[in-house]
Amino acid sequence: MKVEEDLIRLIKKLYENVDHCIGYPICQYPNMSGFGEWYTKTGLCDIGINNAGNPYDEEQYVLSSVEFEQDVIRTVAPWYGIPKGREWGFVTNGGTDGNMHGIYYGAKKLQRETGMLPIVYVSKEAHYSSFRLCDVQNLEVRMIDYDKHGSMDMDCLKRSIDPTRPALIIIAIGSTFMGATDNQAGIRKVLEETKPIAVYRHLDAALFGGYLPFTEYRDIVSMEKQGYDSIAISGHKFFGIDEPCGLFISRMDVLEAQKAYKVGYLRNNMPLISCSRNGLTPLKFYWILKNIGFDGFAAEAKSMLENTSYLQQKFDEIGYPAWHMPYSNTVFFKSPAEWIQKKYMLANGYLPDYGGELCHIVVMQHVKKAILDEFIGDLTNQI
Ligand SMILES: *Cc1c(COP(=O)(O)O)cnc(C)c1O
Repeated sequence: MKVEEDLIRLIKKLYENVDHCIGYPICQYPNMSGFGEWYTKTGLCDIGINNAGNPYDEEQYVLSSVEFEQDVIRTVAPWYGIPKGREWGFVTNGGTDGNMHGIYYGAKKLQRETGMLPIVYVSKEAHYSSFRLCDVQNLEVRMIDYDKHGSMDMDCLKRSIDPTRPALIIIAIGSTFMGATDNQAGIRKVLEETKPIAVYRHLDAALFGGYLPFTEYRDIVSMEKQGYDSIAISGHKFFGIDEPCGLFISRMDVLEAQKAYKVGYLRNNMPLISCSRNGLTPLKFYWILKNIGFDGFAAEAKSMLENTSYLQQKFDEIGYPAWHMPYSNTVFFKSPAEWIQKKYMLANGYLPDYGGELCHIVVMQHVKKAILDEFIGDLTNQI
């Protein structure tokens, strides 16, 4: 059958390339085959599930999986230090969706508290989705310089803050190219000194937010320790789900500060931007959380960070310029020959402080020593 032949061609191409795809933070180690079997065996594949609406509403559309969506949020909330019983969140369609809701809820909460829309402060090294989303939401943005470690520059933030307006700070926990982490203690200090009339802090932790809770650096993503208001995490990055999805986690008071948006057929108060939402990804999250669990994630995180150090050490041994930032699984280095970039599907960047043209490798679960050795071998031969 033609359709099947076409699909097999695609699958063949994917399998031929997957082992060398080390330039992007997508986990190519999904553990979803058990889920796939269960999905067809149980007949779930023949039901159209849809999680439209707030998953925390008591009354729900029957053909949904919101019970499991709530379970996912409840399971992960303690890992992010969310005050017990105060957590609110949902499974998103990706990190961008989480950022969109964080920015939207933050702006509306601040507007409700002060009667004014905020100024958004975000580092120039943050993911582009934050700038784009502020553009979509027509918010005033001040782009903050970053220091040589890729973290938001505290002097520039201090100079940029307008204390007469509420401040919405987007904090990058794992910036896209350099893998940099903004300094939350420094930001708190600047806020104490400049005293904007109201503050909301959203963490963009799409990649690092997946693994940090399982490492000694867990306090970085702890709401209790850092006092942030919401966090966005991707599901297809560290959590290894086989399709784009993510988590938005916040608190009940953020939800309660939103203007009621009455939609009769969605049980009246509808706080989410999208109407229909994926009912399957919460089940995949549930599956992964139950099957891998805290200890399994801790082992994966440990091995990823060990392999990151291994790669850095190999670069150092051959004297090739390469760097990685604290807590990061992203190593960036001087751009190699074109054929190497192609072979490993490397992502590009440009940083004058680091010599200009650069590439990076994101050491996800599937990026093991064997492929790193092959890469270093190729690099050595091109020198
Ligand atoms: C990947 C990433 C995003 C975008 O997330 P998607 O899941 O691709 O929508 C946003 N911010 C950071 C820091 C990221 O690493």
